[in-house]
Amino acid sequence: MAFEGLTGRLQDAFSGLRKKGKVSESDVQEVMREVRLALLEADVNYKVVRNFVKTVREKALGEEVLGSLNGGQQVVKIVNDELTELMGGEQEKIVFAEPGQGPTVYMMTGLQGAGKTTTAGKLANYLRKQEKKKPLMVAADIYRPAAIDQLQNLGEQLDIPVFSMGDQVSPVEIAEKGIQQAIDDNRDVVIIDTAGRLHIDEDLMNELEDVKAAVNPHEIFLVVDAMTGQDAVNVADSFNERLEISSVILTKLDGDTRGGAALSIRSVTNKPIKFTGTGEKLDAIEPFYPDRMANRILGMGDILTLIERAQQEVDEDRAAEMAEKMRENRYDFNDFIEQMDQMQNMGPMEDLIKMIPGMNQVPGIADFEMDPKDIAHMKAIVLSMTPEERENPEILSQKRRRRIAKGSARDIAEVNRLIKQFKQSRDMMSKMSKGNMGGMEQMLGG
Ligand code: GDP
Repeated sequence: MAFEGLTGRLQDAFSGLRKKGKVSESDVQEVMREVRLALLEADVNYKVVRNFVKTVREKALGEEVLGSLNGGQQVVKIVNDELTELMGGEQEKIVFAEPGQGPTVYMMTGLQGAGKTTTAGKLANYLRKQEKKKPLMVAADIYRPAAIDQLQNLGEQLDIPVFSMGDQVSPVEIAEKGIQQAIDDNRDVVIIDTAGRLHIDEDLMNELEDVKAAVNPHEIFLVVDAMTGQDAVNVADSFNERLEISSVILTKLDGDTRGGAALSIRSVTNKPIKFTGTGEKLDAIEPFYPDRMANRILGMGDILTLIERAQQEVDEDRAAEMAEKMRENRYDFNDFIEQMDQMQNMGPMEDLIKMIPGMNQVPGIADFEMDPKDIAHMKAIVLSMTPEERENPEILSQKRRRRIAKGSARDIAEVNRLIKQFKQSRDMMSKMSKGNMGGMEQMLGG
């Protein structure tokens, strides 16, 4: 999981301060020393760190933090606000062509291996799903062996058309003809996959400039790999100087990147991060929200992203029905299994859990892993119940439990444990949905 080290260090730095109440000038100095080290260790650009620390220190000493009752909290809030600013403040939306002006044209650029081609597919998929667009992808990387095949393959998986002219035609011509094809076929977004290299070189930059001049794109996305830290920032800086990119897509944020790229790119290039890549699957792309990312870095969770992911999976009426059942303590094993399936579609459980505010302060949570086998076992047990048993778990006698254990090839102890846990969580959910949040607060140590 990204930012783990940084989050841990920042939380250590703040934990003393939070308890303190009144905060003195030397407390602020001390905590800012820690913050500075934490950021440097996370591979944030040193100039960015210097400015950041200076701004926070001035605000903390200037605003009425010193001597006020919850000074510690206020310092954390200032750090949160400034982290948000550092990553661009407000979320910046993707640019589309004006209505009636022909298709929107995007150029995907980046070094080889950054995830450019994959991200072209993810973006096309995202735009179709979230913006109801009809994308066409254009294969203009004629150098990397198999780049064209890779894009065509993505197109087939996604059922999105790909325009290609092989590798003997110039990228400029491919891009121009691709746009014409989009116009002819009534596609409203053209995503051009351009060539990458292992390193920035003159030929590559010339070629990208030519394509840019020929197609006048609405956005030039630079795709960079978050795992490469400061290198990513340098790459972004060089591309931007030559090509004047419009925004950045930061990939591989699902890995254990330290955070340097996410925190430095905006202030070094003055170009916003618009999306992040969070996995190899073609739906693993998310719009970038600086405030949510700041919350996540500070270990305050990212409940909004969690809710959005849930909304993509869950039908609203069904969710309301489920809430009603929870409130009335009628939640049953059918609902349970439906929700398990939804959760699995939302991404790895370990990531989801850490988006819940406060969860990453729970000891051991960093190493928490959910074995997909456990989920499969739970499902096997539930599927061995009769429809009647699933709807009414109260009738699960010892005899029935033995039958279920046999049917699902699990231990009787495992069956008993699952039923017990199910009942406990059903009772907790019923209490919580009646407005009694005691259980939740206890869980979060609040
Ligand atoms: P290109 O050379 O820039 O076009 O890079 P590719 O699109 O071929 O991607 C290189 C590798 O990175 C592939 O194995 C992708 O599956 C992987 N990749 C791309 N984006 C992500 C991401 O957000 N997370 C993870 N974990 N892997 C990614």
